[in-house]
Amino acid sequence: MHQMTLAEIARGLADKKFSSEELTKVLLARITQLDPQLNSFISLTEELAIEQAKAADARRANGESGALLGAPIAHKDLFCTQGIRTSCGSKMLDNFKAPYDATVVAKLAAAGAVTLGKTNMDEFAMGSANESSWYGAVKNPWNLEHVPGGSSGGSAAAVAARLLPAATATDTGGSIRQPAAFTNLTGLKPTYGRVSRWGMIAYASSLDQGGPLARTAEDCAILLQGMAGFDQNDSTSIEEPVPDYSASLGDSLQGLRIGVPKEYFSAGLDPRIAELIQNSIKELQKLGAVIKEISLPNMQHAIPAYYVIAPAEASSNLSRFDGVRFGHRCENPENLIDLYKRSRGEGFGPEVQRRIMVGAYALSAGYYDAYYLKAQKIRRLVKNDFMAAFNEVDIILGPTTPNPAWKLGAKNSDPVAAYLEDVYTITANLAGLPGLSMPAGFVDGLPVGVQLLAPYFQEGRLLNVAHQYQLNTDWHTRTPTGF
Ligand code: GLN
Repeated sequence: MHQMTLAEIARGLADKKFSSEELTKVLLARITQLDPQLNSFISLTEELAIEQAKAADARRANGESGALLGAPIAHKDLFCTQGIRTSCGSKMLDNFKAPYDATVVAKLAAAGAVTLGKTNMDEFAMGSANESSWYGAVKNPWNLEHVPGGSSGGSAAAVAARLLPAATATDTGGSIRQPAAFTNLTGLKPTYGRVSRWGMIAYASSLDQGGPLARTAEDCAILLQGMAGFDQNDSTSIEEPVPDYSASLGDSLQGLRIGVPKEYFSAGLDPRIAELIQNSIKELQKLGAVIKEISLPNMQHAIPAYYVIAPAEASSNLSRFDGVRFGHRCENPENLIDLYKRSRGEGFGPEVQRRIMVGAYALSAGYYDAYYLKAQKIRRLVKNDFMAAFNEVDIILGPTTPNPAWKLGAKNSDPVAAYLEDVYTITANLAGLPGLSMPAGFVDGLPVGVQLLAPYFQEGRLLNVAHQYQLNTDWHTRTPTGF
């Protein structure tokens, strides 16, 4: 039962082959049995799940239908869930029970999705390995000695290990696509503004975007359908109608113009990954796509720009966690300054503290022009590169990551080494564009992802290309041994 995709579950529920309650109980038992190896969940919500499953079964018995009605999912632990711990992977929020549901959580619940729990993540979504979580590292089900990617590593590991069919995630610089690549999943970061950020604890507000992690593009379409849409509570949410994502999955790829940036195949890319990307290009050519070499000349500046902008926004967003308004409060403070200092010093881990300091420095009076303003200018150049490229091509294709999942602890002593791994993903966040990662093969038994980028609001195009690819390849069907 645990092998089913969301689409298969939807069909099974519609055909009355099983109930949502039965399925939910099977998956909860599987999580209890297997998750100790992975640490992919921070909280399990068994009672809520059974209650929601029963309610979904009752709605279906009353004649309601819908692909998410009774479908089991989990939320990355930065989506606020009313009355349920929402920790953001941090000691700072270990005892925080959100007083309301994030829009994404409320929308999915209204569609009948069943919440099995809250998934582990890098602290405040800062990281690429899920090792900065206060609740401990998450393991990659493909090799328990390797990282699952981050920051949505818990959602990725849980779905990859077939503990559940799909989960929500967020992507500020790659945190949906990179863990998807590292665990053989399909993950979509939508256009900035497509999915409401209301109730999604902010890391870098101008870059953060929620999206689906699942095994197939078909399932990403189903989950995105439930997440996307205008929200008046989010001032950056865009009032643009949500298309039927599942309806566009069958379009032919005949004549589709795929751009392959020459900058992507530089020295930093593992040659074995480069070969798998070439194979995926050949596969798409067989389906009728036309390949064109393009250039993204400012790509080399994207990492430094991102690692100024994201920490700058984080330093501002995280100022609210001071032991007074939100978050952990230290014992016996001597005075207000002592309370702030010790509450924040105790509540935040080292990576979060590093980013707050980098951000505060970049925003300070003497350095604002030299760092923050400069980074914003680079951001515009990165966007302009994409706009020029999309005059010539329909999608852009390349690797999701330069290397496969590294060993746990391998980059702990060198944060910049980890930042460099984000080279292919962060440009989409800087430009606000949608991006998808899908399985493209294996290197040393570890999954490799191919990334597709599209113009604004062309999520449907990305899902269509990925679905057609998945109809003709079987990488996405591979299951990690032991799960
Ligand atoms: N790895 C990037 C960072 O650490 C991206 C994280 C994310 O997308 N949340 O900032």
